[in-house]
Amino acid sequence: MKKDDCIFCKIANGEIPSNTVYEDEKYRAILDLSPASKGHTLILPKDHYDDLAAADGETLASVLKVAQKICAGMKKSLNCDGINVVQNNGAAAGQTVKHLHVHLIPRYEGDGPMVTWKQNESDPEEQKKIAAGISAAL
Ligand code: AMP
Ligand code: ZN
Repeated sequence: MKKDDCIFCKIANGEIPSNTVYEDEKYRAILDLSPASKGHTLILPKDHYDDLAAADGETLASVLKVAQKICAGMKKSLNCDGINVVQNNGAAAGQTVKHLHVHLIPRYEGDGPMVTWKQNESDPEEQKKIAAGISAAL
């Protein structure tokens, strides 16, 4: 299902032009308008899902297969040294467009920190409680 006021629905379904690198019946992959690196690509499902939590299992499985295929093409065409696969959920996590998408960010030796975070100390007892809490909520 498409959502009327969603820009990624319009791009994925070809109503707004894009630099498309891949298309099949379920997905369109496009170059990001403001790329983090040369070749930064977004995989967009043609159906609307707000985020990971809203998508069905079949979609989640197939989107990673598409990611694998495009990553292989990127390595050949861009000669990149690595690729970050990033998927943001919720504004607090940096999601700015509320339509499920997967970022493929080609990385080049020496291009500096990009997808990174501060590593904190962990408390073993607290970690046990956190693990048990998440586990119990599944
Ligand atoms: P996120 O912050 O994970 O929601 O990612 C949204 C991404 O979409 C950002 O990297 C934007 O640069 C990109 N973006 C926003 N609008 C467009 C557009 N019209 N075409 C291509 N990429 C876009
Ligand atoms: Zn949408």
